[in-house]
Amino acid sequence: MPRTTQKTSAPTRGGMTAAEPAEIQRLVEDLDGMLSRLRLGAIREQLDGLLEEAARRQLNLREALAWLCAAEVASKEQRRLSMALTIAHFPFVRTLEGFEFEAQPSIDPGKIRDLGTCRWVANGDNVVLLGPPGVGKTHLEVALGREAVARGYTAQFTTAMELIGALVKAQQQGTLEMRLAQYAKPKLLIIDELGYLPLEPEAGHLFFQLISRRYEQGSVLISSNRPVDEWDEVFGDQVVAAAILDRLLHHSHVVTIRGDSYRLREKRRSGLFRPQAGGSSSAGIGGVAPPIPAEEV
Ligand code: ADP
Ligand code: MG
Repeated sequence: MPRTTQKTSAPTRGGMTAAEPAEIQRLVEDLDGMLSRLRLGAIREQLDGLLEEAARRQLNLREALAWLCAAEVASKEQRRLSMALTIAHFPFVRTLEGFEFEAQPSIDPGKIRDLGTCRWVANGDNVVLLGPPGVGKTHLEVALGREAVARGYTAQFTTAMELIGALVKAQQQGTLEMRLAQYAKPKLLIIDELGYLPLEPEAGHLFFQLISRRYEQGSVLISSNRPVDEWDEVFGDQVVAAAILDRLLHHSHVVTIRGDSYRLREKRRSGLFRPQAGGSSSAGIGGVAPPIPAEEV
């Protein structure tokens, strides 16, 4: 049954009733209020301009209605996007368009562009980015994360250290369940910089709990400077590492980046650093990284 809260002879299903001009006038006066009640804030705020433009373009009623709706939809989408980006906590703005593939020949641009469609997020698959410092892992994480947000998925960016710190603290405070639920919630969880510091076995176990909580529910995008066969050392426990990798890699795309630090390219060109022996592709993961000025790491 339709709700019959209207006080006036407003348009009905059968067509416009022969409303008195005074009644129409009352409706017009209530227009702001009605737009607010319907949460059509963009139409309310831009009404004069939108109507003027519609008149200038000589739109008919249906076209004008579509024109107004499009303004509302665009504004709502913009708000959703900016809120989702705030919640995601990306450390900086990076995009796929801003990634120079020529600078990193070990990356297949087709594969990254395919990941950019976010089908893997829709499927709940994981992505593992491996490579030495400065090769663009965080750049790609942020860029792929923004693509996911633009497509309407929820995302959250964190570093492995921040994540594990939060889980350890939550366990001490008896709020682990709540924290795990919080990290399980976004459709895409991005975990940056696993492996820069080895973890206590207890921390590894907490990390396992999170990964198994998200398993086949939501996607994880994780980056590490250590190859997966060194993750025993990262987690300080072979069994825990195997259990984490088992779930993480089950439905996953692994991107291994071999090459020179993008940060150091210019410096290397200017002769500050010597080129790595054997050319750029020989620097495997976990290989000896060139000296990196502390402020740039
Ligand atoms: P990593 O996370 O692998 O240590 P980053 O993603 O932090 O590396 O890259 C270091 C800096 O270099 C960032 O500012 C990043 O945007 C930039 N960068 C790295 N690789 C590329 C690339 N191929 N094209 C454009 N910028 C890049
Ligand atoms: Mg990084």
